[in-house]
Amino acid sequence: MLIRTFALFCVFIFSLPSIAASSPSMSEWFNAFKQRATPAQMYNFLHAMPKGGDIHHHLSGAGMSEWWWDIATSSKQNGGYTYYTKTAPTLCNGYGTNEFGFSPQLLMFHTVSAFTYEQLSSCEKNNYTLLTNLSEMQKQAFLNSIRLDKPHEGRDEFFQTHWQRLGDMLLNPHIQTYLLLKNMQAYQQENVLYLETQLQVTDMRFPDGSPYSTQAFAELLIDMLKSDAAQKTNVEVRFQIHIVRFLPNATQQLEEAWKFVDGHRDYFVGINFVGREDNDKGYPLRFLSTLRKLRAQSPPVSLSVHAGESDEPNTHIKDTLLLGADRIGHGYNLIEDPDTLLMMRNSPYLVEINLISNLLLEYAESIDEHPFPEYLRTGVPVTLSTDDRGMWSSNLTDEYYLAVTHFNLSWDELVELNTNAITHSFMSGEDRETLLLRLKKETQRFIDNRLNNTPIADLQQHYTFICSYAPAVCSE
Ligand SMILES: [Zn+2]
Repeated sequence: MLIRTFALFCVFIFSLPSIAASSPSMSEWFNAFKQRATPAQMYNFLHAMPKGGDIHHHLSGAGMSEWWWDIATSSKQNGGYTYYTKTAPTLCNGYGTNEFGFSPQLLMFHTVSAFTYEQLSSCEKNNYTLLTNLSEMQKQAFLNSIRLDKPHEGRDEFFQTHWQRLGDMLLNPHIQTYLLLKNMQAYQQENVLYLETQLQVTDMRFPDGSPYSTQAFAELLIDMLKSDAAQKTNVEVRFQIHIVRFLPNATQQLEEAWKFVDGHRDYFVGINFVGREDNDKGYPLRFLSTLRKLRAQSPPVSLSVHAGESDEPNTHIKDTLLLGADRIGHGYNLIEDPDTLLMMRNSPYLVEINLISNLLLEYAESIDEHPFPEYLRTGVPVTLSTDDRGMWSSNLTDEYYLAVTHFNLSWDELVELNTNAITHSFMSGEDRETLLLRLKKETQRFIDNRLNNTPIADLQQHYTFICSYAPAVCSE
C-alpha cells in the first residue's frame, strides 16, 4: 500500500496542476456503479467520461473504411482525384513479380489514382474497376479489405496488405485532411480533448501525379484545423511525423523529419518510428548516431517511438530510451526486461498502451494476459490509445471499456490515465496547462452529474469491434 501511495504521489508530481477529481465520494460511487452496471451502462459511462486524449494514433490507420470510401468516391471533395481498385487480378506481368512491394500484381483491392491507372498496360487496366462502378458486393469487400474483420486476419494481413491496398489514396493530402476532421468529430462525440496523430508529410501528389510540397500539405492541415467544422469539435490537435524505420533511407527520413518539425513547432511536435519491429533492419540503435548529430545542431525534438511491440524479449525499449525517447509506443515486452522495467517505475517515460491493437495483431493472446495493469499499478506512467482504430473499427472508449472490465480499474486510475495523456503530450507547457485545466473542469462537471444521478443517454451506435468482442454492450 505504501508503494502504491508513493507511486501515485510521483505520478501527480508529473501531472502539473493535479486533477482534483479523485474525490472520495466519486471513488465510492464508481465502486458501487461497477457492481450494478450492465455492460451497456458501463460503456455509456466511459463514453461520456471526459478523456484526456489519444496520443498514439496513426492518421491513415485511423480512417474507418466508410470514411475512405466516402472521400475517395467524391472527386468534388477530395481535390479532384479519381480512383480505381483491383477487382480481377490476372498475370499481366507473368510469374515472379514482387508481391511484397507497393504494387503487388495479385493483391485484391489495390487502389490507384487515375494518373497511375493511365500508365498501366491495357491488360493491367482490365484488372481494375472505377471505384464508383463497384457492385454492392464488391463495395462491401473493398470496405472489409482495409479492416481486420475476420478471425484469420491478423498481423500479416495488417502489415502486408492494408497499406498496400490503400495505395495512391495515401498520397492525397485532401484525403488525409478529411480523415483528420472525421477523427476530430468522432472524438468530440466520445469526449476526447486531445489528439496527437502520426503522419507523413512527404510524397503527396496532385491528381496529375506531380509532387505536392510538404509546406503546402502542412498549410492544408493547419487551415483545416482553423476551419469552423474543426473548431466546433473543440478537440486540440498536434502532429508527429513518422518515419518508416526499416527502409534503406530511414536515417535520411529522420534528418528530414527533424528539420521539418524544427521549422514547424507550433503544430508539429514530435517524431515517431513506425513499421513492424520484427524487421530487424529498423533496430533502435540504428538511429543513435543520427540523433546525436541532430541534437548537436538544434534544440531537441520530442520522440515517441514504437518499441517492445514484439513476441520475444529484447532490449528495444532500453535502446529506444537511449535514443532520447520521451515516450514508448506499446511497450508490450517491457515486462520481460526487468532492469528497464525497474528504471521506468516513477520515471518521466510514458508507455502508450494499445490493448485492442495488441490483441488483434496477436501480441497478446487475450486481454487478461496484457502487462498493462502491472505497469499501471507499479508506477510506470501509462495511458490508453487506439493505434489504428479505423482498421479495428474501434474507438478510445473501447480501450477504456476493456481496461475497466478486465482489470477492475478504480476511479483514481481512470483519472490518472486521462491526465497522463495530457501531461505526457508534446504540446508546449502552456498549452498543456490550459488543456489540463479544461480536463479538470469537465471532469468535475461529470462527477457532479454522476453524484446527482443525472442519467447518461443510451448510445445508439457502436463501431463493430466492441459489438463482436462484448455483444452485450450493443444488444441491450
Ligand atoms: Zn502504432
